[in-house]
Parts: sequence; structure tokens; C-alpha cells
Amino acid sequence: MKQDERSTLLYERAKKRIPGGVNSPVRACRSVGRNPLFIDRAQGSRMTDADGNEFIDFVGSWGPLILGHRHPAVIAAIEKALERGVSFGAPVDLEVELAEMVVEAVPSVEMVRMVNSGTEATMSAIRAARAFTKRDLLVKFDGCYHGHADTLLVAAGSGIATLNIAGSPGVPEDTIRQTVSLPYNDTEAFNRFMAEQGGRVAAVIVEPVAGNMGLVPPHPAFLEALREQASKNGSVLIFDEVMTGFRLSYGGAQALYNVTPDMSCFGKIVGGGMPVGAYGGKKEIMEQIAPEGPVYQAGTLSGNPLAMAAGIATLKELQKPGFYETLEECSARLSDGVLRLAEQLGMPLAVNRVGSMMSFFFTDQPVNNFEDAKTSNLERFAEYYNRMLKKGIYLPPSQFEALFVSAAHETADVDLFLAAAEDALSRFS
Ligand SMILES: *Cc1c(COP(=O)(O)O)cnc(C)c1O
Repeated sequence: MKQDERSTLLYERAKKRIPGGVNSPVRACRSVGRNPLFIDRAQGSRMTDADGNEFIDFVGSWGPLILGHRHPAVIAAIEKALERGVSFGAPVDLEVELAEMVVEAVPSVEMVRMVNSGTEATMSAIRAARAFTKRDLLVKFDGCYHGHADTLLVAAGSGIATLNIAGSPGVPEDTIRQTVSLPYNDTEAFNRFMAEQGGRVAAVIVEPVAGNMGLVPPHPAFLEALREQASKNGSVLIFDEVMTGFRLSYGGAQALYNVTPDMSCFGKIVGGGMPVGAYGGKKEIMEQIAPEGPVYQAGTLSGNPLAMAAGIATLKELQKPGFYETLEECSARLSDGVLRLAEQLGMPLAVNRVGSMMSFFFTDQPVNNFEDAKTSNLERFAEYYNRMLKKGIYLPPSQFEALFVSAAHETADVDLFLAAAEDALSRFS
């Protein structure tokens, strides 16, 4: 790695005018004890920083770039949309097309509303669920992140875990009094809670595969219990598929685990790298949204034509035969390789993977929930992170984030990752 002179200068300037120098906290790289790298450009699996250092990118803009950077079909679609105009504040054909594609991909979604971020999607879904049930209480799970809306900033995983703030100042106690956070994957605790309070629960929201405490797969029985109890108690089950949607399969985690929620939230991939979120579900719930119904939710730039075009082009690529199989092969090669390295070195490492999302936890115990994830040795993670970066491997700068494999990663990229990891991990023993 060359000097990071330009990044350092930009960071110094940024810190004076942008809180912490960044527009989203985890980017600041504080938990790995270094300054953020400013990115100049990227192509395929490669990203180049402001000083000309090149990296193989395993962050993929935190999930959206399942096709890698600057996929030709996505760039062409954006350019074509650009010729027509940047924004109209009036309906366009592309919104209808993307809505139809989402509904077709995810059968539990009968109607869908486009918004501008995952945060907006979950926030709006909860409003709809509360209106629908005429109840207020919300159940979430420790370590699951659903964006930064007030009601959801309780035991909310990654960014907050990394920064060590419990919840957030500025969130009124009264707001989160209506939010209950239960342990992830603890079917018994959930069933017990619902037996006592289920009749008051408006919505149960979950990351069907958790990605924001590091990657934690669900116990299938856990997801099934959510479905069963929500149905029994008249609560709305919301799958937050902002990260998993169109990533774990074309139908998301719900198709993979065959559990059907009442509502789903999307973001990241559905916008193809542009700022997009979407929420949808059963018709009778979605018909409450204004102007069809009384539940207010709006957005000046929602359904933006450039964003819709990028989303449509991305989804079309995902529909191609063998897309997910190839992605799975590449992802398995990576996680199998790391597992083998850890075994060879006799090193405690919990390797969690579902499809093209994975995390390597520096702990000697299996990671099934946030408590387990927190047993990780964060100093070790930081050392590993920095060693990998020096070798040209760009990873999420937190133990509590998942890394992403994209279709732009080739076998050679994975092999470079494994060679770097061998060096990084062997220095611990
Ligand atoms: C990223 C993410 C969000 C928030 O989306 P933003 O676009 O960052 O607001 C919500 N839920 C999950 C599961 C996410 O991974």
C-alpha cells in the first residue's frame, strides 16, 4: 500500500465540516484504529483510493453492489434515464416496471411503495403495521439493525456496537417505551413474550438473516415461531430484507427459508447502488397508505427515474440462469478457505455464511446471537483488518458487519483474499 496522504488531507478537511468527517458512522474506521480511505473510483471488484492504492472490494457499498462496480448494464440504464431527465416529481414508467418486478420476485409482496433508503422503508412499514393493527407495541431483536428511526434504535447492532453507544441520546424514552428487543434466535423467549403480551403487539420486525451484528443465520424454528405467533396474535410480521433481499436468492431470505412475512422491506440491491428503499406486503395493509388510505407517507425524490433504472437493470442481471449458483460457488470457496486456514493454524474463529454474506468472528464459540458476537476479540479483528488492508483487501471495518461477495469477484480475487488471510492469521500464532 502506498501512502494515504490525500485521504489524510481530505479527512482533515472533512472533519471540520462534516461530523466525524463522514456521512455515515461506520465509514470512519474508528474501531480498527485508522483513518478512512477516500475512494476515487472503482470498476468490477476493484476500488482505487485517492492516493492511487488499489483494493479488492469486499464491502460493495455495504451490500447494494451485487454485480460489482460499474456493471455495464447498470451504467447504460442510468445513462439512458439521464437523457430523459434527472427528476420529475411526477410518475414515470420505470417506477411501475420496478414495482412489478419486486412483486413478481417476492410473492408475499402484493403492493410496494418506493422510498429513498432502508431507514425510510422500515420506518414506514412500522407506521403501516401500527395503523393496520391499531396497536403500538413493536418487537425487534438484539443486534438487528433496521435503520436509524427513533423507534428502532434499541439494541441495534453494528454501527452502535462499534461505537459503544447503547441506543442513542436524542431518542425520547416515550418513543422506545413501545419497542421491545428480545434475543435473536431465542425461540423460547419469544414464545414466552408473545404468550403474555402478544395481544398488544402491532409488529414483529426481524432481519431474517442477521447481517448487522456480523452475519448470523437464523434457526429455521425461530423464523417459523415468528410466523406462527404473529398469525396467532394478529401482529404484522415484517421481514427487513434491506440487506438480504435479492442477495440470498431472487426472492430473498423468505424464499430461502420458506417463511412468509406480511410485510417486507428492501433497499440496497433494489436500487442498484442508487439511494432507494421499498416497503410492501399484503394488499390490505398497503392499501392504507396515502393517497389510497389515511396513513401518510411521502417523498419528493421517491421513485427517482435514475434510481429506478439502476434497480431494474440490476434485477434483470440477477434473473439470468445460474447467477446465484455462481455467486454461491465463489462465496463457498472463500468461507471454506478461511475455515481451512483457521483449522490449520489451530485458531479459534467462528465462520458464519449464508450465500454471498459472511463474517469471521474472532471467538472460540459459535455465534448465534448478539451476545455470542460480542465475545469476539476486537483487538484481534482490528489487527486482522489492517493486515488485510495492507495486502490490498478492503473489508468492512467492523467485526459486527458482514462482508459481501459480488458477481464481479473472480476465483483469482478469492485466492488473493486467502493468501492475504493466511499471512494475516498466521501472525497471531
Ligand atoms: C442497511 C440496512 C438498513 C438501513 O438502510 P439505509 O439505506 O442505510 O437507511 C435497514 N435494515 C437493514 C437490515 C440494513 O442492512
